[in-house]
Amino acid sequence: MSFISSAEADRNTYDVIVVGSGAAGGQTAYTLAMEGVRVLMLEAGRHYEPASETPMMQTNAEAPLRGSGTPDKPFGFWDATIDGGWQVPGEPYTSASSDPARQFYWWRARMLGGRTNHWGRISLRNGPYDFKPHTRDGLGFDWPMDYQDIAPYYDKVEMLIGVYGSNEGLENTPNSSPGVLQPAPKPRVSDLLVQQRARKLGIPVIPFHRAVLTERLDHVRIPKLLHPGNEKAQKILAADMQKRSACIWATPCGRGCSIRANYQSTTVHLPPALDTGNLDIVTDAMVRAVTKRKDGRAEGVIYIDRKTGAEHRVKARVVVLAASALESVRILLNSGVANSSGRVGKYIMDTVGAGFGGQIPLLENLPLHNEDGADFGHMYVPWWLYKEQLAGKLGFARGYHFEFGGGRLMPNMGTAAGLEWLNGGNYGPRFKEDARRYYGSFVYFSGRGEMIPNEDCYAELDPAVKDRFGIPVLRFHWKWSEHETRQAAHVEKTAADIIEAMGGRFGKAPQGGDKAIKQGGIIIHEVGGAIMGTDAKSSVTNSYGQCWDMKNLFITDGATLCSNADKNPTLTIMALAWRASDHMLSLMKRKEL
Ligand SMILES: Cc1cc2nc3c(=O)[nH]c(=O)nc-3n(C[C@H](O)[C@H](O)[C@H](O)COP(=O)(O)OP(=O)(O)OC[C@H]3O[C@@H](n4cnc5c(N)ncnc54)[C@H](O)[C@@H]3O)c2cc1C
Ligand code: SF4
Repeated sequence: MSFISSAEADRNTYDVIVVGSGAAGGQTAYTLAMEGVRVLMLEAGRHYEPASETPMMQTNAEAPLRGSGTPDKPFGFWDATIDGGWQVPGEPYTSASSDPARQFYWWRARMLGGRTNHWGRISLRNGPYDFKPHTRDGLGFDWPMDYQDIAPYYDKVEMLIGVYGSNEGLENTPNSSPGVLQPAPKPRVSDLLVQQRARKLGIPVIPFHRAVLTERLDHVRIPKLLHPGNEKAQKILAADMQKRSACIWATPCGRGCSIRANYQSTTVHLPPALDTGNLDIVTDAMVRAVTKRKDGRAEGVIYIDRKTGAEHRVKARVVVLAASALESVRILLNSGVANSSGRVGKYIMDTVGAGFGGQIPLLENLPLHNEDGADFGHMYVPWWLYKEQLAGKLGFARGYHFEFGGGRLMPNMGTAAGLEWLNGGNYGPRFKEDARRYYGSFVYFSGRGEMIPNEDCYAELDPAVKDRFGIPVLRFHWKWSEHETRQAAHVEKTAADIIEAMGGRFGKAPQGGDKAIKQGGIIIHEVGGAIMGTDAKSSVTNSYGQCWDMKNLFITDGATLCSNADKNPTLTIMALAWRASDHMLSLMKRKEL
């Protein structure tokens, strides 16, 4: 089994159809195929092969505009995203409000592997509090599960994809089991200074957790732990793990990694799943709707072959939506299923984004050294004010963490730009001197905070607009609450405090919460829209992503998340997808599906 055409898919029979090939679809297909289930994956984007399509070892100087972002490539020339971004040609979405602050921005990637080809690889676990937020402060929803239910799956995903980091035993910042994490990379000079000065303010700075291999995976130990009693799966995974190299500290991860040293669905989930012979993939297959059997169960899906425009129907015992949270919501709304609660499309969430940066004289004129490292952050600040927050001292209910950047990374177009506030503006030899002096002396703190689900943030079908396939598109409603804007103000103020504690300076003062907060969707951590819960009245699925109204329809992407902790969501999405797949396996074995 392998990459096949839609005509071939029409002729075959499958146990499970998985819609989407990103973090959620990749994990679901992997778990099922490794256990012998025949899976058909339908992916709207084109085939993508990182080994041949990812440019490694090329410098920014070799790229147009030195790699800078452009309207069609906002993350820069090297961004791995194909056929995607804030807009996808011919596939619009709309906003109910013309007020920019109330609009929602939706980043999509139409390619095999989805957004996992260029995501930031930040892989943080939710902690015990994050599953019971309503019990803690009376806001939002509790999850129908505890941290202990998902902890073994966090371990499994971390071992499979490879996550670096350390166990620090901090409040609501869980440790992984012994032997799960890879060693964290060495801190950069600026990391050490941030750590030293933040500590004086009582703020912890610890190694980041990212899905990047700092050493080769242990192909002898891990496959046995992940697939006990399944020798075929162990053998396939062991062979595949040996084909993944450790990071060579060279090329930024956002363009993908042809040596497979970081996690992408295309380099980690799909190759071993395909090697089982149990997975078929049809690319350029845009799913429009879930079809229904007479007994009310899901029959299969209808999809459009993007190359021919022809409509196809496929059937299976189980249908899994893993098309990314809001695309799965759109499929549900267009199918008219699984919505007896009326909650499909409701409670969509993003991460609160705000940030602040400064210049640190202590970091000027450092001796020349290469600090590229494992691309993005080597260290971060986990949320630390749980007690103060619970005691109501902060004025906002949920926490944030800081991802921060600094160091002497590969120069780009922005290096030495915007120095006027420091040197009054100059040119010629003085400018070159200043470029060297200030290079690597800036730090920037990005706050990433929890948003509380609210009634004003939802998606519905636009009554008039359709995409180029004739499929109705989503229309978004959005409004931050004061919990989020106050949190954003706290982010700015704390970052400014840390910069001052480093002896640093900033060009302009913090702006305040309303102005500091980024627009909805901009952090690209959208979740919710088909939330899980304890009953069919108030939620769309149970804790396994199984729809209350359609027992053989599952959702394994972020749509089921009923809160969005400050921790970036993708590791949780994958852990939930593995757990949901195990549940499907046991139901299939018992012939309940
Ligand atoms: C620049 C950037 C940085 C990020 N950094 C981080 C980070 O550091 N940490 C983190 O946790 N998260 C990060 N994210 C978010 C992360 O990428 C997503 O949470 C994750 O990819 C979600 O996985 P998914 O499988 O649900 O969706 P996706 O990865 O988007 O995959 C969905 C797939 O489904 C396909 N699809 C959609 N609709 C259909 C349809 N109708 N029919 C068939 N196929 C369909 C899409 O083409 C796509 O391939 C980042 C995202 C971006 C863009
Ligand atoms: S930094 Fe390391 S993991 Fe990331 S793309 Fe480069 S070599 Fe691969």
